[in-house]
Amino acid sequence: MSWKLKKSRLDLLARERGAIRKVWGNALTVCLAYPNVYRTGMSNLGFQTVYALINGRPDCLCERIFLPDPDREAAAPAPPISLESQKPPADFDLVAFSLSFENDYPNILAMLAAAGIPLLAAERGEQDPIVIGGGIAATLNPEPLADFFDLFLLGEAEALLPDFLDATVALRRSLSREAYLARIQESVPGAYGPRFYQVVYDQAGRIVSRTPLAPAYPQRIVRRFAADIDAFATDQVITTDDTELGGMFLTEVSRGCPRGCRFCAAGFVCRPVRFRSARTLEGSIQKGLAQGKAIGLLGTAVSDHPALLPLCRSILERGGNVAIGSLRLDRLDAETAEILNKTGVETVSLAPEAGSQRLRNVIHKGISEAEIDAAVDKLLEYGIVRLRLYFMVGLPTETDEDVEAIVRLVKGIGHRVRSASEGKKGFRRLTLSINQFIPKPATPFQWHPLEEVAAVKKKLRRMVAALRGEPAVKVIHDLPKWNYIQALLSRGDRRVGKLLLAVHRLSGNWAQALREMNFNPDFYVYRPKETGEILPWDFIDQGCEKAILEREYRQALSGDILKETQT
Ligand code: SF4
Repeated sequence: MSWKLKKSRLDLLARERGAIRKVWGNALTVCLAYPNVYRTGMSNLGFQTVYALINGRPDCLCERIFLPDPDREAAAPAPPISLESQKPPADFDLVAFSLSFENDYPNILAMLAAAGIPLLAAERGEQDPIVIGGGIAATLNPEPLADFFDLFLLGEAEALLPDFLDATVALRRSLSREAYLARIQESVPGAYGPRFYQVVYDQAGRIVSRTPLAPAYPQRIVRRFAADIDAFATDQVITTDDTELGGMFLTEVSRGCPRGCRFCAAGFVCRPVRFRSARTLEGSIQKGLAQGKAIGLLGTAVSDHPALLPLCRSILERGGNVAIGSLRLDRLDAETAEILNKTGVETVSLAPEAGSQRLRNVIHKGISEAEIDAAVDKLLEYGIVRLRLYFMVGLPTETDEDVEAIVRLVKGIGHRVRSASEGKKGFRRLTLSINQFIPKPATPFQWHPLEEVAAVKKKLRRMVAALRGEPAVKVIHDLPKWNYIQALLSRGDRRVGKLLLAVHRLSGNWAQALREMNFNPDFYVYRPKETGEILPWDFIDQGCEKAILEREYRQALSGDILKETQT
């Protein structure tokens, strides 16, 4: 191991507060891997939660590993080593990947290869670690990664990890690799070993059947969730200034969301809606304040928390500061705006998602133009003159008028921001952030195709041109070609793994990999799917019946939507 590499790990560790270092003994050893760089991985509360859960057990030890940071480590490419004791991943019993974003998937292969671990699960031997994956991306659809993982754990770690770790501590070192994996598949609800299921396709490439290879394996895998999120604290365990949210102490306020926006995976697969009580949150807040950090309140429905404003007030009254992860427009009243003003927040983000009322109804966003105007007015009234607005393009049923409506809305808000801040201090800016809609598994739009890259580019060009010259309006958007890849990795079946392998072999050259393979990615990305079709992720019981998703999809596409919103 190079001294330079070891020193870079020790430097990172030295700047951390809360890292856990255990002595290697008989404990089950887990290398927790984040398929992106340190500063991104360490901003992920789920990643930190798993680290704490595993290390909280006396019979387990967990150390972290990240993708090498090209800005910091370009000069010293070397085999990866864990942060805590600088051991290679191959020395651990398990390598566990935290999977939040599909576009990180190629990094998984790069990390396994650099660690000398065979990429294909089928080629690993007794001496290799068991490679497992969990996190929201895996829970939505693990199939594109099926060839590379021995096991997936689907659902929330607090519910699933104790059962999995109990069984693994008891069995891993006494059984062969294959026998251990089979026992986990049989006995741990939420665990999924792709090798234990056979998928058959028809001539057109659609899935015909999916069969467990033994009667003891469940037909469907149940996504696990923790019924009582007050029973544990989901708090940041390690704080460091080397992350994207370095000045904050992150704590989770809620899981699930009652709003049911039809594009949103969190709203459908993180059910049921659960809030941590003010009493439990108080303990977390005290921890963060004691470290002198701003309290970052995270969750899918933060602004729906019944005690949000009293909690924020109490933090501010104690001389602390607070940041709210996501804020619903229709919750932005005078009291909220006043609190935001007191936090000194520079920019407030709002997400109308669609420009026209018609399209907001289609996606079930549940906010009106009057509510958008009222929210903006409240913020301006309390001196917040830097706003970021999130919109999507490529939504189902979107027309040119809907795109023009975004421009109109942004121009109107820009005008209000300028008038309200005339003669006042503070740089005013309106940032328009445009993301392409990607139809996600397990949502009502799972059957809908992605809008074609060329059409999205055209819409983006039109919007950029229409807003050029608008004072203080800045437009940012993601790149359609990467959205196409994201859609492929999100909606694909296990055959997509062959493409990932080719991309890895060709050092990330997607275009060449696609050219070399007899593979049609449009099949997954642009093809509208029949509602009766077996989808790659249908075997996961997310707790929301397919019939409900189908009803929502039909309502979205039908004229009923207008009646629905008038009531
Ligand atoms: S309000 Fe936000 S978190 Fe809730 S369903 Fe809608 S987009 Fe998802």
